[in-house]
Amino acid sequence: MSQWVNNNRGIVNIKIDIDTCTACELCYDRLPEVFVDRGDGIPLVMIKVPIERVYEKLLQTAEDCPSGSIILY
Ligand code: SF4
Repeated sequence: MSQWVNNNRGIVNIKIDIDTCTACELCYDRLPEVFVDRGDGIPLVMIKVPIERVYEKLLQTAEDCPSGSIILY
């Protein structure tokens, strides 16, 4: 699943690899402005604020995802 997001740095695509995600809860615990639990521990991308406001935190969260399942490009 993925979602295109406009921000002042251009466009970032956020993709969750649901085949490798371990449902560890880190992303939506840390960044509920961007990720929500779809009900089984796998995150959905649901942007609730202007992405530039959480962009640095998004980069860090993607880096910290233990299975590397948050792909930004
Ligand atoms: S941080 Fe990574 S492994 Fe954990 S729930 Fe989010 S996408 Fe899945």
